[in-house]
Amino acid sequence: MIFRQLIDHTSYTYSYLIASDKGREALIIDPVKENIDQYINLINELNLRLVVAIDTHMHADHITALGSLQGQLNCATMMGEYTTAECVTARVREDEIITIDGIKLRALYTPGHTDEHFSFAMNDRVFTGDCLLIRGTGRTDFQNGDPYKSYDSIVNKLFKLPDDMLVYPAHDYKGWTVSTIGEEKKYNPRIAGKTVAEYVEIMNQLNLPFPHLMDVAIGANAKCGFEKGTVEHGL
Ligand code: FE
Repeated sequence: MIFRQLIDHTSYTYSYLIASDKGREALIIDPVKENIDQYINLINELNLRLVVAIDTHMHADHITALGSLQGQLNCATMMGEYTTAECVTARVREDEIITIDGIKLRALYTPGHTDEHFSFAMNDRVFTGDCLLIRGTGRTDFQNGDPYKSYDSIVNKLFKLPDDMLVYPAHDYKGWTVSTIGEEKKYNPRIAGKTVAEYVEIMNQLNLPFPHLMDVAIGANAKCGFEKGTVEHGL
């Protein structure tokens, strides 16, 4: 398997390129529009064919590359079944398996950060989007976020995965690149050993500023980062 973790230095978003080294088919998770040239170069260098681009949720802090990748590489675009982004070519349901050239991704509905958020589990790793971060959790104060649902998604769904499963989140602001389910169960300061009431109190007191790009990003991402009818230049 080919696996690349790519960082967007503006929004501290992680995007993941995963491909089969046999059939050369690839998928990408949470790609950022501004970095599309990097993705396309890498895909070409590694002699891959992008089959699908997936967003874990409607991002508020960057514009998605889903529409641009679809436009330039003719891949499918995918989000969870509750997304309001009507531009995606496919929606996945809870427990649905996405299979690309022998790589299997299981869709897990993990609301809380947003009400349409999905995580995606492979055999040894899980892409947790903004549900579970490394030593943190995704904020729950906009986009129909709900700290009770966040707790439920993390404790009753993600923490039920094997302890040695690798955790790859959609963001990190401190330079962490990977964790495990067992490590987050033990050391995540927001949720390890916390009751739901304690967690909700923590989340409700975060008082984070809204993302810089929020209004622009959510509007653009409802169209997969791509205004229909405009000419796409890949930026
Ligand atoms: Fe987010």
